[in-house]
Amino acid sequence: MRIVLKECAWESSGEELLVLTDPREVLTLGDEDGQVAALFAALGDGPCTVSELQGRLAAAGVHRGEGDVRAAVEALDALGLVECESDRTLGDPGLDDRHHSNLAFFGAFARFDRPRSDFVGSLRRSHVLVLGVGGAGSSLVQCLAGLGVGRLTLVDRDDVESRDFAGQFLYHHADLGRPKVECAAEWVRAYDPRIEVRAVDRWITCPDDLKDLVDGADLVAGGLDGPPEAHLWANEAAVRAGVPLVVGGMTGSQITYYSVDPGRSPCVQCDWNGRPTPGGFVERNRAKLMIQNAPIGPLAMQVGSLIAYEAMRYLTGFEAPRAAGTFVKLDLRDGLVPDRRPFTADPDCPVCPR
Ligand SMILES: [Zn+2]
Repeated sequence: MRIVLKECAWESSGEELLVLTDPREVLTLGDEDGQVAALFAALGDGPCTVSELQGRLAAAGVHRGEGDVRAAVEALDALGLVECESDRTLGDPGLDDRHHSNLAFFGAFARFDRPRSDFVGSLRRSHVLVLGVGGAGSSLVQCLAGLGVGRLTLVDRDDVESRDFAGQFLYHHADLGRPKVECAAEWVRAYDPRIEVRAVDRWITCPDDLKDLVDGADLVAGGLDGPPEAHLWANEAAVRAGVPLVVGGMTGSQITYYSVDPGRSPCVQCDWNGRPTPGGFVERNRAKLMIQNAPIGPLAMQVGSLIAYEAMRYLTGFEAPRAAGTFVKLDLRDGLVPDRRPFTADPDCPVCPR
């Protein structure tokens, strides 16, 4: 294995070495005798094996056994500072260029036992069922395609209308009157022919309408419109299949999203069961307000990208899902300060696995 130092800057400061890989954080390593600085300098000369690294250190006057050098490299790996040269790419120049930013993003999370190519590979092997390709779903599809998610199944039953153009950038004037899923699938194929995409033109009126689509999916994601019960239907279909669910929406300047990690977080049904019966002025009129919803582009794009980012957490495991069993609400009016409300857990939930 040839070891390579990730992009970083370092500087000796007294008996310490300061290392910068991310402007948000400076690593401080103890370095009384300057040997850690010598190690960074030796690695900075380019990819090398442990044995070659040992030789470079010796040439710099640092004489250590191969076991010591290997232990030092493993310590740097634990800090996320080095990686294996051959695992930095997907091994195909065309693909590497296509996924340049994706590979760069996951570089920060790469370790010897989980290289950056594996994170991107996880996305390329994933199958996401997208519920709704309207306001949030339109930008979600674009984000998932950009990440290189390998299979997309798109479900919707709307046709393209000119009113959609304010926030749904998958569609063109030539698409007016056509089923959205067909146009969305065409967009994906034109964007990246490597992505396998299926269009399902279907109304969803109960969990069973989703059963055949959820089976085999790694994740269900979308922006749901229709009755509030649509959240319960998607939740039941996903949780019964053991597939994570990520859903987002918007009202006015407000963005909300949540996810369900089946068997690990409470689900939407749990929360629904524990919710007080709506009786207030806002609850009684919420349905009317939804009709007048104004999903403009800047909001729709943010909802779709938040859903996609949470989806990426589930699909790659690069970090834990942040909205599992939690309603996260952000409002443009107060600068997107998150307001988090955890779901109420229900030990007797009829949907959650026992
Ligand atoms: Zn539940």
